[in-house]
Amino acid sequence: MKRTLLLFDVDGTLTKPRCMVTNALYNLLLQLKKEKGVSLGIVGGSDLSKQKEQLGERFMRDFEYVFSENGLVYYKNNELQHEGSFATALGEDRLQTLMNESMRHFADVRLPVKRGTFFEYRKGLLNVSPCGRGVSQEERDAFEEYDSVHHIRKKYVELMNTLFGTWDLNFAIGGQISVDIYPKGWDKTYCLQFIPDDYTIHFFGDKTDVGGNDHELYEHPRTVGHKVANPDDTMRILQDMYNL
Ligand SMILES: [Mg+2]
Repeated sequence: MKRTLLLFDVDGTLTKPRCMVTNALYNLLLQLKKEKGVSLGIVGGSDLSKQKEQLGERFMRDFEYVFSENGLVYYKNNELQHEGSFATALGEDRLQTLMNESMRHFADVRLPVKRGTFFEYRKGLLNVSPCGRGVSQEERDAFEEYDSVHHIRKKYVELMNTLFGTWDLNFAIGGQISVDIYPKGWDKTYCLQFIPDDYTIHFFGDKTDVGGNDHELYEHPRTVGHKVANPDDTMRILQDMYNL
């Protein structure tokens, strides 16, 4: 007999973006764990400290599977099991080649403004911004507008694909000013390698459409996908599922 894992995205699914979970939803999850014998899990893009702020310190004990940064940091029953790194996966030499070629390219690009911090290295990805992350909101808007006409990021991604197309990297244009670079497959489906086969995985996410960060996991053959509009909707779906 298969076990059940209820696996949740955080922002927009268990909480309103960047807010705390409500007691009503949290208590419902505890009730399902206790009365229906389900396991609880989260898989979110943020880091663990942010998730603790949103779900409370105790969630590390209440949730069996905790995947931060899409699973690059993985705790089971409050014990660290795995920590991945983009630099290790790609290799320091390749990472530097990638950065050097990016700088060479940006050196010749003219923009409305350029500021500081063209790279932000995170555990699971390299975030690259042609104008730099040190821009104000007004300057961000100006870059986005300029980019929509001159395709600065698109041209950069095309160049990187030409140079490094064999390295199995994703170049994802995201937000207003940047491009995320990460190994193929390092989306939320990364967490699946850690979940035993005898689980039926119900995954709940709000960004399940193409291009959304829940899409790949929502569509994956190993999950039963549930698209939610907001945390209240998550609650309603759970209540329906378990006739509460
Ligand atoms: Mg979300």
